[in-house]
This record gives sequence, C-alpha cells and structure tokens, in this order.
Amino acid sequence: MLNIENHIAVKKKFNVEEVRKDFPILKRLVNGKPLVYLDNAATTQKPQTVIDSLNHYYNYDNANIHRGLYFLSEIATESYENARLKIKEFINAISSSEVVFVRGATEAINLVSNSFYMGKYFNDGDEIIISAMEHHSNIVPWQLIQNRMDLKIKVIPMNDAGELDIEAYEKLISPKTKLVSVVYISNSLGTVNPVKKIIEIAHKNNVPVLLDGAQAVPHLKIDVQDLDCDFLVFSGHKVFGPTGIGVLYGKTEFLEMMPPYQGGGDMIRTVSFEKTTFDDLPHKFEAGTPNIAGGIGFAAAIDYLNQFDRDELTGYEKILLDYATEKLLQIDGLKIIGTAKDKASVISFVIEGIHPYDIGTIIDTDGIAIRTGHHCTQPVMARFNVPATARASFSFYNTKEEIDKLVAGLNKVKKMFA
Ligand code: PMP
Repeated sequence: MLNIENHIAVKKKFNVEEVRKDFPILKRLVNGKPLVYLDNAATTQKPQTVIDSLNHYYNYDNANIHRGLYFLSEIATESYENARLKIKEFINAISSSEVVFVRGATEAINLVSNSFYMGKYFNDGDEIIISAMEHHSNIVPWQLIQNRMDLKIKVIPMNDAGELDIEAYEKLISPKTKLVSVVYISNSLGTVNPVKKIIEIAHKNNVPVLLDGAQAVPHLKIDVQDLDCDFLVFSGHKVFGPTGIGVLYGKTEFLEMMPPYQGGGDMIRTVSFEKTTFDDLPHKFEAGTPNIAGGIGFAAAIDYLNQFDRDELTGYEKILLDYATEKLLQIDGLKIIGTAKDKASVISFVIEGIHPYDIGTIIDTDGIAIRTGHHCTQPVMARFNVPATARASFSFYNTKEEIDKLVAGLNKVKKMFA
C-alpha cells in the first residue's frame, strides 16, 4: 500500500522545460513564431496524457454508462465513476456523492440558483451577497431568479487595489441573508480573496457560502473541508482538462435538501405517469447521458497535476507574476488594474492612448496570445473606469522568456502608436 509519506516522496521535481514537453500545443508556430500562450485564465492547454485518455476512451471503451450490463458499459461506468472519486480526493470532499458533474462553473451556479428557487429555499424579501468582482456567471443566474421573485442582491465593495472590503461585507449580512456567493480568485484582477475569513463570518451568521473556484482550482491546492465552503464550483478546461465538464461540489446536507433542476434519464429511481422518485446523490442532479469522455479526461488532468507538489507549481507561478509585474511596470504609460497584495498569476493592464484590442491584435502577429476585453466582468471594468483591459495570465508551463517576448511585443505596439 502506498502510504502518504511514500506518496509525497514520489512527487516529480518541477522543471519547466520538461513540463513544456508534456503539452504538444506549446511546440506549434503561430504566424511563423513559437506560440506564447498567455491566456490561461480563459482556458488552459492540455497535456498529452489528457489527449490520450480521450482517444483511448473513444478508441476502445466507448459505451453509455450506468445502464448496460455488458463489458464496455461496465468499463466506461467504472472509468467515469473513478473520475468522480479522483475529483473527490483532489478537493478532499468527504464523499464522492458530493461531487456532481456539470458542464462547468457556469452550469454549477445555475444548478444551485435554480434548485434553490424550485425548492423554495428563498422567500420574497430574502437577500444574497456577491462581490464587486464576480464573473458574469455569478451575477446573471441570480438576476434570473430575481426576475421570478423578490430576491435582493447585495454587493461587497472593493478598494482601488481590487481587494474586498471585509468590514463592509460584515455589515451587509442581515437576518434575511440566505447565501454568500463569491469568487475565490478574480479572473480579471487576479485578486485572491480571503475566503476562509468570508466563510467564517457567514457561518457565524448561519449563512452558507458558495465559492466560485474557476480560477482558484488551477492555481491552488484546494481542501473543501479545510475551507468549510458549502459549495465549490469549477471547470475542467481551466484545470488542464477538456471543455464541457466541470464540478459542483456541495455538502451533503445541502445537496440532499435541494430538488433536481433538470429531469430525465439517469437521475430517477422509479417513474410512472403519476409519480417519479429520484436517484441518490449525486445522480439526482445528472439528468441524461453525461460527458463521459470529459469526466475521464478531467481525471487524467488530475493525475497529471498530482505528479507534482502543487505548492511548488504555485510558487513558480508567483515568480512569473512578480517578474512580469516588474517588467510590465517599466513600460511607459502602462497601468496594472488589480494590485491586491494577494494575487494569482493574472495581470490586467491598460496602456495610455492605446485600445486593448489594438494591443491584442498587434502582438498576435508575433504569436503572443493574451485576452482583451471585459473578461465577463463588466462591473469590474465600470469600477475601474476602463472600457476593457488587456490580460496576461500565466500557468506553470510559461517562462520568463515568454514574458520577455510579451514585453518586447508591447514595446513594439507603443512604437507603432508613438
Ligand atoms: N468564474 C470565473 C472566475 C471564471 O473565470 C470563469 C471563466 N472565465 C467562470 C466562472 C465560468 O467558467 P465556465 O465558462 O467554464 O463555465
């Protein structure tokens, strides 16, 4: 048996040049130049092992799951359910029945909001608290509920560095507060929010907390029991896995209480025209044929990450963040939006007199991929009074040389606009 100490001992030493060889896309040329991929907050690249797992599934094991009593269906079911188990361990959930497969973070939040509504968890006049730096996917689903009932959305303000005002947050909580739903790491500012504190304050007031972990899971080791969050949502494609698969983690007590928000096959125990009874957790929330290959690919991504000491990866990303911050600030007229003390490797910036779209388009000619726009956080753009930003977001397969290329590209843009 592999004990924990052995497990730690077999961790692979991180070496960026070796790691880059695992990601085939990093070898490709774009516009005749080696790809410099700095849009990891939008989606991450996939290691060969993830790509191979998808190929293997479709080449050898493809069958529908849970219903077949034949060889292939049993193998496919086992692989899919093993993936759930792997994710349970990855986030340290108590049970794999707390891991609900969904399309991604967006669908997970819609599942909670709709199920809460359908289960009459909210009464007219109730309140939820979100923050000023939420992704649209943690704003709009709640507004859709607001269209159906009197639900008040309160917003935790942030300072000019892009840090949440925790004192203001405490004052927002009232006897009518039914949920706090906040982002762990902001995708447009890079801020790492003090979520343990946020959860502690909410729980003192008997209010559950949903964490949007879409940007946190790729960068930090996550332990849902230690965090004590009631829900955590994240997407496979931002954690080196496939698109179309994600997770809603929920504490059993909540998932048990919540009604399913979609009905169909695979989520029932018995159906008659008079009455349907639902399957146990987590299947109650997984109507229809799921993304089987996606789940298997996600598990392969977790296997890939588990080779490394996650803290070592996070430490390397911090070196990239500090290096890039220093170099970017040397560019005349460049301003970083989001200067929180605790940041992940995401840098949003604007350059005086140059529209972010022009920045993105011009550096693309040198094979450098960054994101420009509002990053699905229009309220953040409004708060900082900018129409859009350019955003470079780094993963552990990026290098200082790539950051130098970004800086050279930006200097080229500046010359063109001089
Ligand atoms: N929350 C955050 C903080 C995000 O960055 C994103 C993706 N940009 C989402 C939610 C939504 O993720 P998805 O589109 O994969 O559902």
